[in-house]
Amino acid sequence: MDKETKDLRVLALFTHVFCAAHHAEHVRAPVALELPKTSSYRYCADCADFLRYAIERRRRCPLDPRPSCKHCEVHCYRPGHRERVREIMRYSGKALIKRGRLDLLWHYLF
Ligand SMILES: [Zn+2]
Repeated sequence: MDKETKDLRVLALFTHVFCAAHHAEHVRAPVALELPKTSSYRYCADCADFLRYAIERRRRCPLDPRPSCKHCEVHCYRPGHRERVREIMRYSGKALIKRGRLDLLWHYLF
């Protein structure tokens, strides 16, 4: 699996953890993401839209080697997107530390 796919899988997992905690009252369903081992994750419509957008932008990143998005000049994301990524990473990162899943944090995305 390449690094991009690995990173996107972490984002898919983190969004799933975040959505379960914050949007449990919404209808949540599996989403076809074309990423390995993500078929059991469930998302509300909003988080599914967020994730599809994030994956599409990341797959289309024109920069090679890709810099960390934090240090990027292109700013390809729509307004509010990076803030949302940050919120999800912060929340789910903490939740996973509490559950002892530090291994999932090594490949940090943004
Ligand atoms: Zn959600």
